[in-house]
Amino acid sequence: MTKNIAEDEIAHIFLTHHDNDHLEGLRFFIGKMSQVREITVPLYQNEITLIARAILNLKGIGKSTDCNEFTKALIEIVNNQVFIKTIVEGKRGECPKLSFAYEGKYFCHHIECLNPPLIIDSYDWIHEVGERDLIQLMSDVFTKEFVREMEIYIRSNSTRYSNIVDSQEFNRFWLYGENDRGRETSDAKCNYVLNFMMQNRELFKKFNEKSTRDNLKEIYKNYVKCTHDVCMVLKTFFEDKKMLLTGDASKKVFKRLIREGKDISATYLKMPHHGSKHNMNKKILSEISPEVAIISHDNGHFGSAKDTHPNQEILELLQNEKIKILLTNDVKKGDVIIMKKDNHDKDYYVNIL
Ligand SMILES: [Zn+2]
Repeated sequence: MTKNIAEDEIAHIFLTHHDNDHLEGLRFFIGKMSQVREITVPLYQNEITLIARAILNLKGIGKSTDCNEFTKALIEIVNNQVFIKTIVEGKRGECPKLSFAYEGKYFCHHIECLNPPLIIDSYDWIHEVGERDLIQLMSDVFTKEFVREMEIYIRSNSTRYSNIVDSQEFNRFWLYGENDRGRETSDAKCNYVLNFMMQNRELFKKFNEKSTRDNLKEIYKNYVKCTHDVCMVLKTFFEDKKMLLTGDASKKVFKRLIREGKDISATYLKMPHHGSKHNMNKKILSEISPEVAIISHDNGHFGSAKDTHPNQEILELLQNEKIKILLTNDVKKGDVIIMKKDNHDKDYYVNIL
């Protein structure tokens, strides 16, 4: 994302996923929204927000005491979406339009979306378990109000979300835009949400019984993982070069693309998840076969402090493969700088601001 936008420039903003560190750049556009033509979010954006709300509506949340770190992050996710909604639902002609991205969709002829897939692979909960039993299962773990919402959500699945519009809670955060592929994808979207709920049911129960930080941490970790599976991945073409923009895409995303024989090769690779070792390996890197790897990072930590961003193993992997590294910040090990941004911030095509 650019640091600033000139008076006469028109922008198209792609929000790879909902995390704060990927949305913060939006503030550079405040007051300049008339210059933003379009905002694109991944196809499963609404569902990700719905799952965040589900966790916030676990019966145990009210009595939890040391869970702030996670509840705050989840509330931020919902608030971010409300913020996007206010931006795109302003006065017509003065606000950007909203669109959804999925595999196979092209933007401006030179940007191809590779992830999320139109239909994300999941167990068919709606048809295998059925509405009534699903709602019964929900009422064991979620607050009454939220179960009511899930009831609306599951029922509206067959009517292309038409009931959602009438629901106050949904109307607060639900995004409507171009290419949501409505009925065609509604089963897949609903199953994606239900999949998270069903697979984490035992963890939900455990948390409701003992509402501790550790018990919520496990749920939160699974949530982050499942959102990284539907993170937007874009391939852009310029002259004879290709660039792969990966957001925080998980290994699962790359493995799927490789399995399905998709061409993920690129001259430039924006390293997924700030250079975390959980999102990249040698096999995936060799399929992409980049000349240059861009690491956008702030020496952050994710979960356990062992996985620093960027991770030493990833830096070594890139060096061993003789891939040029471009950095947005100095890389530190403790307080010691081990790689300086200045030596790494530009090449012929890319200049890091
Ligand atoms: Zn991130």
